Amino acid sequence: MTRFRPATEPGPRRIAIVGGGMAGTLTAIRLLRDTSAPLAIQLFEPRAEVGRGLAYSTPDPAHYLNGPALNFSLFPEALDDFTHWLARHGLAADAGNTFAPRRVYGDYLQDTLARALAGAAGRATLEHIRTEITDLTIGVPHRVRGADGRAWEADHIVLATGVQSARPALAQDPALEADGRYVPDPWQPEALAALAGARAVALAGTSLTMLDVVATLERLGFTGTYHAFSRRALLPWLRHGVGPCDDFLGAAGPALASPTTRGVVRRVRDQCRALSAQGLDWQSVPPALREHIGPLWAAASVPERQRFLRHARPFWDNLLHRAAPPTHAVLAAVRAQGRLQVHAARVTGVEDTGVENAGGRLALRLSRALPAVPAVDALVNCTGAEYGWHAGNARPLVRNLLARGIVRPAAAGSGLDGDARGTVFDRGGRAVPGLSALGAPLRGALWESGTIIDVRNQAAAVSARLAQELGLAARPEAQAA
Ligand SMILES: Cc1cc2nc3c(=O)[nH]c(=O)nc-3n(C[C@H](O)[C@H](O)[C@H](O)COP(=O)(O)OP(=O)(O)OC[C@H]3O[C@@H](n4cnc5c(N)ncnc54)[C@H](O)[C@@H]3O)c2cc1C
Repeated sequence: MTRFRPATEPGPRRIAIVGGGMAGTLTAIRLLRDTSAPLAIQLFEPRAEVGRGLAYSTPDPAHYLNGPALNFSLFPEALDDFTHWLARHGLAADAGNTFAPRRVYGDYLQDTLARALAGAAGRATLEHIRTEITDLTIGVPHRVRGADGRAWEADHIVLATGVQSARPALAQDPALEADGRYVPDPWQPEALAALAGARAVALAGTSLTMLDVVATLERLGFTGTYHAFSRRALLPWLRHGVGPCDDFLGAAGPALASPTTRGVVRRVRDQCRALSAQGLDWQSVPPALREHIGPLWAAASVPERQRFLRHARPFWDNLLHRAAPPTHAVLAAVRAQGRLQVHAARVTGVEDTGVENAGGRLALRLSRALPAVPAVDALVNCTGAEYGWHAGNARPLVRNLLARGIVRPAAAGSGLDGDARGTVFDRGGRAVPGLSALGAPLRGALWESGTIIDVRNQAAAVSARLAQELGLAARPEAQAA
């Protein structure tokens, strides 16, 4: 094990990045490109590949990014980087307006990392260490510890641990998961392959995750019926290309100094209605909200944030997170064929009736009574990602950091307490030296903290903060993409 080196001593600064999805990989890319300092980066990621994480590991070509390529450059200062990359690789004639498969976005991340490393050859190294980090300590030196008991020292640790697959225990009977009739993780394509011949499949959740599952099953030749369930039965909107919208929230000024859920929702709804009344597209509203979300969340009282989570969240998510045209076309086709039924109830459980009937033999338990509960052959959990940083979390790192007070949960919503520069606050509310976080772990602190646009802005901010705190010399000019 190498010894801790004070910042005054020569030698590479050691950066430990926990999580090699988009957030961790982009943080490494930024450090390599933004600084001219000697660096030894260790990227801890159990997956075989870095850069993909949960979102961009999917091999399914039917899983698309939810916006056009021009939205998804890795660099806020070079917004055409992804469109140029697509064009250079011959992947799109009209690159900016292309909705790329998510797998391709993982390729873009990996290629950008390879080029950043090549540009830093001789001065910086990056090592992918395939282990789950289960604990860390802050001190002299800082240390991260792996599931296999090994430990590594670092001058700074970055938490980029992303989301987890949601796994509410919908099936108490382990046999259902074992024989493939209950699929707890919708992002495991081999589990869905077993359902291609089913007659009726229940989908717990009606958001973009549900659309991914439908897209995969259609590609696999499924011809049966989908029964999709959620409390509000809201289906994703088709994303339109739109022009700019007035900054109606900015114009509200002091009226939103102490924002309330009711006040913000009313303004958003009124703006959508006003545009529709003029024959204009309400979808220009969501992009106009983006710059206000963080400040509004920060200014809202904790009870207001909790009220938002209780009452407005499903509508908000439905407004902001819309479906790519190729994905939405699959949804439209199965609806036109009468093969999708949407039910306003949550699935709370499932069991085997042991009796075969025309619809299947699984019985669903629901949050509210419906006139008729369909019998189905299988249930797929499409409830989406889990953001939880709470003591009952399945991940040892989360449990250990909370138990020792190195981090504290955000005041409302899931995640840990921190800020947009990636600062993390400990149990006493003090900034933790040598520790940063970005992406989904900051969901409760910032609210919108998981999209590509959020993560790319945060990676730039974390890199700048590290450069300052560790005395990393800035590159005179960022390396050409
Ligand atoms: C299915 C899906 C589709 C999405 N599509 C879009 C989209 O179209 N547009 C958009 O803007 N955003 C999208 N998102 C949001 C997406 O979360 C971000 O774009 C981005 O991928 C987040 O990256 P991340 O690195 O923070 O998280 P993740 O992708 O979750 O990666 C985190 C990584 O950390 C690793 N990890 C976790 N804990 C540890 C530990 N203790 N030790 C070591 N490694 C650990 C995990 O193995 C994982 O690989 C999507 C998200 C999902 C889940």
